[in-house]
Amino acid sequence: MLELEIQNCKRREELCITIVDWFYANYLIDYELEVIVEHKNLRKDSVYGYCDISPYEECGWEPRSFLIEMEKTLTIDTYIQVLLHELYHVFQFCKGDLAIKNSIRHWKGKSIEGLEYEQQPHEIEAEEKEKVLYESFMEYLEDT
Ligand SMILES: [Zn+2]
Repeated sequence: MLELEIQNCKRREELCITIVDWFYANYLIDYELEVIVEHKNLRKDSVYGYCDISPYEECGWEPRSFLIEMEKTLTIDTYIQVLLHELYHVFQFCKGDLAIKNSIRHWKGKSIEGLEYEQQPHEIEAEEKEKVLYESFMEYLEDT
């Protein structure tokens, strides 16, 4: 089961639900999850999206509560791609490949502290998947 809460974006609410539901059905169906998608101004941080374990839950190896932050002003195509990228991080957390222990990010059990963004294994994997996910999702949209 998925509990989804969307904050601060009436304009994209329906699209957001469609994307999250699609991703959940395809990748996360085995997990009981709580996902909050918060829309805000992230341009000051020069990013389009963030995915983190929800601050309401203690960080651990089996997080089931997530906070995704999305830049408010993205075009539809970029919005879809960024949200799928962030959801892929949720999948990495659920699989246990990605974890936060004592505030330190781990990939497959090893600390990735200090690695540049481009070298972080979870980002490399998510960037690779992003386009495939986007294409599959667009096909799904056309078929419905
Ligand atoms: Zn990422």
